[in-house]
Amino acid sequence: MIGLVDGRVSRAAGAALAVCEIAVEELLPRLAGLRIQRVDADPTAVRITALTRNDPRRACPECGRESDRVHSRYVRHVADEAVGGQPVVIGLLVRWLYCANADCPRTTFVEQVGGLTERCQRRTPTLQRIIEAVAVALAGLAGARLLGTLHQMLSSASVLNCLLRMPLPGRPTPW
Ligand SMILES: [Zn+2]
Repeated sequence: MIGLVDGRVSRAAGAALAVCEIAVEELLPRLAGLRIQRVDADPTAVRITALTRNDPRRACPECGRESDRVHSRYVRHVADEAVGGQPVVIGLLVRWLYCANADCPRTTFVEQVGGLTERCQRRTPTLQRIIEAVAVALAGLAGARLLGTLHQMLSSASVLNCLLRMPLPGRPTPW
């Protein structure tokens, strides 16, 4: 059983508790800037519970005006690339913010954490890039098999959907 003690990863060793001198942010740099509350590892996944800090102002995706006025919070579950042969799931408590611009049609918005969350995505950008690279190289069934080896369980249809949602690369106009 792995836990978190004073922001550091620890592992129960019999009755004793051995504390590793590695901060979670050093192992997973994209979690820097978050308040990490728990890290639990079970046979199926490493589960990280964290919340965003109260102070950063976030830009409204509609008008760009920054705000830190909190409407409410909710937990987003974001999958990340595997660590130690186990998939990683981050339970992130994010803020739902009021837009500071009275003329903005979007009165509230959910904050995004750079490098970790994107709007309407349930995967970190890093994991999404891995899946897209596999989808481009191998497509459906073979891609799903390779991703399974990488501890990312996706159906062949999901891999194909990922491939079809990718934007096509721009082509130069012929002379
Ligand atoms: Zn706005």
